[in-house]
Amino acid sequence: MTYVIHTRAELAAATREAAGDEATTAVVMTMGALHQGHRQLMREARARAGFVIVTIFVNPLQFGPNEDFDKYPRTLAADVEACRAEGVDLVFAPSRDEVYPGGAPSITMNAGALGEILEGASRPGHFAGMLTVVQKLLMLTGADVAYFGEKDFQQLALIRRMAHDLELGVEIVGVPTVREPDGLAMSSRNRYLSPDQRRSALALSQALREGAEHTDADAALAAAHKILADEPGVRVDYLALTGTDLGAPPAEGPARLLVAARVGSTRLIDNVPLTLEKAA
Ligand code: AMP
Repeated sequence: MTYVIHTRAELAAATREAAGDEATTAVVMTMGALHQGHRQLMREARARAGFVIVTIFVNPLQFGPNEDFDKYPRTLAADVEACRAEGVDLVFAPSRDEVYPGGAPSITMNAGALGEILEGASRPGHFAGMLTVVQKLLMLTGADVAYFGEKDFQQLALIRRMAHDLELGVEIVGVPTVREPDGLAMSSRNRYLSPDQRRSALALSQALREGAEHTDADAALAAAHKILADEPGVRVDYLALTGTDLGAPPAEGPARLLVAARVGSTRLIDNVPLTLEKAA
């Protein structure tokens, strides 16, 4: 049975009951418009935890003034159905006032240096807003374990860092990116794309896939860059090769290739793992 609740009082009551069961509580935080990527997070949570909470909240704090907060898709009825199908125990879909009683918080998270690069450079304040709501939702749900997608790789890295640096006592689990059959990373924002834009958007995952075939950093970047440059419908914001901690790439070993681009007015991100080797 999946319960749908909207207030923090209902959430407190439900989690008190779950704690009485001594079950592990898992949370999957989302902004709704749920797709198979979100559902994979739910499945992993369900396989592991006795009590699974999905939160659905479009967090105004993490949207810039010219971003898509107002037009972000809101599909609660279908989202609840998806949660039911995945055997989620509780859906917490609060209003803005429920999460931020009294208005925008005056004390917020500081994402540090890792929050200034890549997405942070293009979206000032985004990660501070994201970490603030993640921290609040961790406190409100009392979760022992929280699931996040590698699709938002920098977000995942920052949440791990916050849990570590601030001793949050919660386990953070990363889940590999779920893709459409043709490779496009699933995203709630894909629904903004026209059929032509959808075809152009494929260049992102293609570029990453080509890049990841290489074990030399320059060759990986060049291969990915070529595919992006050949697609006029894509305006690249950044293409970056980093270490798995988003620092400088290692001379050899696991690394990450990340891209952000605009297709029409839609901003898309994607990333893949790759392994670097020293030239023989
Ligand atoms: P969002 O609703 O976009 O804020 O995403 C909620 C959670 O789902 C985040 O942890 C995302 O990283 C994760 N997520 C979104 N898309 C995917 C995907 N294609 N594969 C895996 N996880 C995803």
